Amino acid sequence: MFWAIRNYDGPSNRAMIVRTGPSAMAITRRGAGGAEFLLSELHRLRPASVGKVRMKTYKDWAYDPLQRGCGFSLAPGQVNRFARTMPEPWKTMHFAGEHTRRTDFGMESAMESGERAVLEILARG
Ligand SMILES: Cc1cc2nc3c(=O)[nH]c(=O)nc-3n(C[C@H](O)[C@H](O)[C@H](O)COP(=O)(O)OP(=O)(O)OC[C@H]3O[C@@H](n4cnc5c(N)ncnc54)[C@H](O)[C@@H]3O)c2cc1C
Repeated sequence: MFWAIRNYDGPSNRAMIVRTGPSAMAITRRGAGGAEFLLSELHRLRPASVGKVRMKTYKDWAYDPLQRGCGFSLAPGQVNRFARTMPEPWKTMHFAGEHTRRTDFGMESAMESGERAVLEILARG
């Protein structure tokens, strides 16, 4: 994925290259050479980019010990086994987080569930 990002006025633009799945693992196996490989691929696909793109940040999540996955998803059977009731408060404890989401995904789900937990607390009176 190549995402062009233009969110400020200036002489240059930003872009984000994201790889996932088996092709990301192949890049991970290149170690520190992964960044160079991405640039060379961009130049191969878009020769006009040669000399015009600078890699500012390179992050390989596979090397991040705190990263245990990208999005939360349930396995078959888990919805009926526990997911329906999982977000329910227990005594004075209220639960928020992507795993308790109902509509949104990703960071929006964290916020959605946070709002729901706040409303639960306010409704306690
Ligand atoms: C590589 C990657 C890229 C992503 N890209 C996007 C994106 O582009 N857009 C998007 O919307 N979403 C993206 N996501 C998903 C998004 O980050 C999550 O959906 C979101 O952060 C979930 O929020 P959360 O509050 O439920 O959980 P988290 O953000 O995981 O927060 C949980 C917190 O609890 C802490 N914690 C865990 N156990 C304990 C414990 N026992 N005691 C105390 N603290 C604890 C953790 O350290 C963490 O800070 C991405 C995720 C990853 C990993």
